[in-house]
Amino acid sequence: MGDKLTVRNPYSGEVVGFAPRNMVREVDEAIETAREGAAGMRATTLHDRRRMLTGAAGQLQEHRDELSVLLTREAGKTIRETRAEVDRAASIFDLAAAELVAPPGDVLALDALPNGAAMTGYCMREPRGIIGGITPWNVPLALAAHKIAPALAAGNSIVLKPAEQTPLSSLLLRDLLLNAGVPENGLLVITGLGEEAGDALVRHPNIAMLSFTGSREVGVRLPAAAGFKKVSLELGGNSPLVVTPSANLEATANAIVRGAFAVAGQLCISVQRVIAHRTILGDLLTMVSEVASKLVVGDPVSDTTDVGTLISREACDRIEKLVADLKSAGAQVVVGGKREAECIYLPTVLTSVEHGGRMLQQEAFGPVVMFLQYTQFDEAIAIANSTDYGLNAAIWTNNYEEAMRAARELQAGTVIVNESTTFRSDLMPYGGIKQSGMGREGVRFAIDEMSVMKTVCFGRPISSN
Ligand code: ADP
Repeated sequence: MGDKLTVRNPYSGEVVGFAPRNMVREVDEAIETAREGAAGMRATTLHDRRRMLTGAAGQLQEHRDELSVLLTREAGKTIRETRAEVDRAASIFDLAAAELVAPPGDVLALDALPNGAAMTGYCMREPRGIIGGITPWNVPLALAAHKIAPALAAGNSIVLKPAEQTPLSSLLLRDLLLNAGVPENGLLVITGLGEEAGDALVRHPNIAMLSFTGSREVGVRLPAAAGFKKVSLELGGNSPLVVTPSANLEATANAIVRGAFAVAGQLCISVQRVIAHRTILGDLLTMVSEVASKLVVGDPVSDTTDVGTLISREACDRIEKLVADLKSAGAQVVVGGKREAECIYLPTVLTSVEHGGRMLQQEAFGPVVMFLQYTQFDEAIAIANSTDYGLNAAIWTNNYEEAMRAARELQAGTVIVNESTTFRSDLMPYGGIKQSGMGREGVRFAIDEMSVMKTVCFGRPISSN
């Protein structure tokens, strides 16, 4: 691998570019620079920060074509997906700017208790210092925006370590943010491997908060490695989607296909397990197969492509093995079920997966959706919850009681009624329970986590003479 990262297009194999392979020394230097940046950012006014953030949104829109083509070449996502991702990243910066127009604050009526007679107080939010951000390759730009925008809005500096597969979009993002007036020492991007640059960032004592998005395998070990710092983790998922007899099946089928095969299923909130009532399972499968078999799979840069590539040959090998193992356990392939090229696996619908055991509870992270059936509603909820993950979960129903029960009983950070599990608004709190993570992203909530609350108490004026 040498002293640089080689970025390859997973579709064509061509070299897209190179990025530095930073090691502990470079990470230490970046954090030292970010220390000055933190002091500078802390001194900025909210107005200064709003200008940077709206400027960032403008830069992203101006460079939309360049960014989306780069993202498609780096990550193998379709061009329609990456154009939407650039728009989304721009809107994350806009949302962060909007949060600064009237930031929340509390006035404390301290005289409501006897010990506070004649006192008053208020709460204010202060920056934490340096935020360490680590991002994955599947949504490289919007997830970088989800770290950077709230960090700057809260008055911190940030050191970002993008995934080794997709470092180029983060380097370009940094250039655009500097154009928008973000100080050079306010945002640093260190590229490199997870176990080298990433690990050095996690362990560094001058990082005040670590905000990580990535796999459960890596994420669960980070709090111990990070030591005494705040840690937020956005890890994997295994999203269930319950379909009850009262659901509109056509709309449900469209949502399942959209949610299972976006980004070739490589989203932590992809629809992975459809849990359908036995009376509608057959009809639903027919509709899903019809929609799924029309998907155009192939060259991600083409405007007509619906499903692009997996990130690597290894990822494709893993999906191939998962489907083979599920078939050995009795699963039937309704659509797809085969590899098309080195990094392309066809959108795949499996049914009769009941004997899949642990395979059903793990994250597939590929274009595979598994259908299970239930008879009693309790059973549907139990199946949905039978996983170590708890990120997004959905129910399709027109029955009020079922919707209310699902909202209460599904173990998930977000429960969605009559939409795909992939629904995410960047203004809502987003994050998981169980092994899907800790902490919440979503601009306002991340600004909160990236700030510390300070309480100020005023006694009555006492003159000096
Ligand atoms: P994925 O399986 O989706 O690639 P990873 O969790 O391996 O997910 O990677 C997500 C991000 O975490 C990447 O930026 C990667 O470089 C980083 N990473 C991987 N291992 C470590 C580690 N030990 N310490 C810190 N960061 C890491």
